[in-house]
Amino acid sequence: MTQLQAFIIPVTGFQQNCSLVFDKDQKRGAIVDPGGDIPLILEAIEQSGVTIEKILLTHGHIDHAGGAAELRDTLKVPIIGPHEDDLFLLEELAGTGAQYGIVGARNVKPDRWLKDGEKVSVAGLDFDILHAPGHSPGSVVFFNDANRFALMGDVLFQGSVGRTDLPRGNHETLLRSIREKILPLGDDVVFLPGHGPASTIGQERETNPFLNE
Ligand SMILES: [Zn+2]
Ligand SMILES: [Zn+2]
Repeated sequence: MTQLQAFIIPVTGFQQNCSLVFDKDQKRGAIVDPGGDIPLILEAIEQSGVTIEKILLTHGHIDHAGGAAELRDTLKVPIIGPHEDDLFLLEELAGTGAQYGIVGARNVKPDRWLKDGEKVSVAGLDFDILHAPGHSPGSVVFFNDANRFALMGDVLFQGSVGRTDLPRGNHETLLRSIREKILPLGDDVVFLPGHGPASTIGQERETNPFLNE
């Protein structure tokens, strides 16, 4: 079995979990959610010795996508995701970045939009795409069944769920996404959220107060 590994590169004032996910043997992988601080990300890539094949975006918020255009220009790799419903966010990244003090944020158009049920391959590792709106309308979760691992974005956190007070957020929609798309993945699935520590679906099913309302 191909061995997936991941490590976190915290970026922006929001301490967003930009991550490098890669296949241990082939040393090929992807950068997920490069919100900003591109020099930090490039340094981490170089130290890892991993060849980056693509950039994945879980959703269009500034702390996740603000640096994607610059990183694509530097690495010459495609940007995959999120769902097209986050287009309105990606089209205003430069303005939002200026507002939040994220230097160099640029608007970005992905090379490929993602839909529920599609697959994305990273170094031969298949990730299933789950469209999980609520935090933002175009949020997607990347799930690698072989390694029982998910890249969660801001849908679900350890002990919390994504905020829904931002434009086109909706709390009911978010809870439905978690109930119908995320929890069925199984209790043993480890996930890396957009902020804070990793967790498992089982731990959140049992202890997350937002899932026991
Ligand atoms: Zn977000
Ligand atoms: Zn975030």
